[in-house]
Amino acid sequence: MRRVRCQRCGHMFTLSRDLVAAALEEVQQKDLEHYTLECPRCRHTVKVPRADLERMAPQP
Ligand SMILES: [Zn+2]
Repeated sequence: MRRVRCQRCGHMFTLSRDLVAAALEEVQQKDLEHYTLECPRCRHTVKVPRADLERMAPQP
């Protein structure tokens, strides 16, 4: 499941397949440990570890 939980408000939201693919591309290009996005509910910055993105990405 491509689900992320906000550490501040506890809101769970699902990342679209396209977003995961774009996020993974970005972390790989920039060699980042985390991809950051905003919680849709409280706008807190949520970090998604690169390893999680790799797990969430569609398998070839
Ligand atoms: Zn939140």
